[in-house]
Amino acid sequence: MGFVPTMGALHDGHLSLVKKSVADNDITVVSIFVNPTQFGPEEDFDQYPRDLEGDIKKLSSYGLDCIFLPDNKDIYPDGFSTSINVGVAGDILCGASRPGHFNGVATVVEKLFNIVMPDRAYFGQKDFQQTVVIRNMVRERNLNIDIAVCPIIREDDGLAMSSRNVYLSSEERSSALVIYKALQHAEDLILSEGMEDANSVKIEIEKLIKSEPLAKIEYIEIVNPRNLKSLTVINKTAIICVAASFGHTRLIDNLMVNIQ
Ligand code: AMP
Repeated sequence: MGFVPTMGALHDGHLSLVKKSVADNDITVVSIFVNPTQFGPEEDFDQYPRDLEGDIKKLSSYGLDCIFLPDNKDIYPDGFSTSINVGVAGDILCGASRPGHFNGVATVVEKLFNIVMPDRAYFGQKDFQQTVVIRNMVRERNLNIDIAVCPIIREDDGLAMSSRNVYLSSEERSSALVIYKALQHAEDLILSEGMEDANSVKIEIEKLIKSEPLAKIEYIEIVNPRNLKSLTVINKTAIICVAASFGHTRLIDNLMVNIQ
């Protein structure tokens, strides 16, 4: 059984995970649950896009065995108090500005795993830190589930698909293209020009993103994809991670650079 946990407002990124699960498994379950415990008090839980009817329509052609739509009380019964603390992996990168976010993610994903009991679960590289947190959780809590990480699906112009893209004005959306451009430029500097110093690469990314006046950079980090530790020298496979806001919309993206 394959399992694809989502928060709905489905786009082709989500659907690529569904397709992969359907291809790999006899049975596929997709869940849609906007998890309150992974949103901070000032975040967009209330405004988060919800389109259950549209989601069900999008899923209808995949021959799914089950769409799981828990409600809040199914997941968080009255007096709920037992959550997972993911430790330092939850404090860095996105965790620095979103305290408690990854604890909320791990808590809900483990609960969904316990209810659905899949053999495999599918996650997107788009939320790379999340995949590391989930893999750690599976190992440390002895869960017998294979975690598959699927490639980032992008719009034709390079913007990584995200349920939050609908928040962007057309001006913000054009500015946001700079994130992927900067990631590609960094890849080029590393692979074609042999730039190894992580700080120099970060400075180049920053320059490019800052050339868009609407962009507000939250972080640019180049890390070891296994443990999310910052690299100073890029001489092995690295992942470049960026978070930036455009207006009120916070976007993340990343690019893995494979160094042989
Ligand atoms: P969400 O509904 O945002 O919680 O996402 C559900 C799953 O879809 C997560 O594993 C995400 O990483 C994955 N996902 C979101 N956007 C993309 C994308 N553009 N490409 C591939 N996977 C994605």
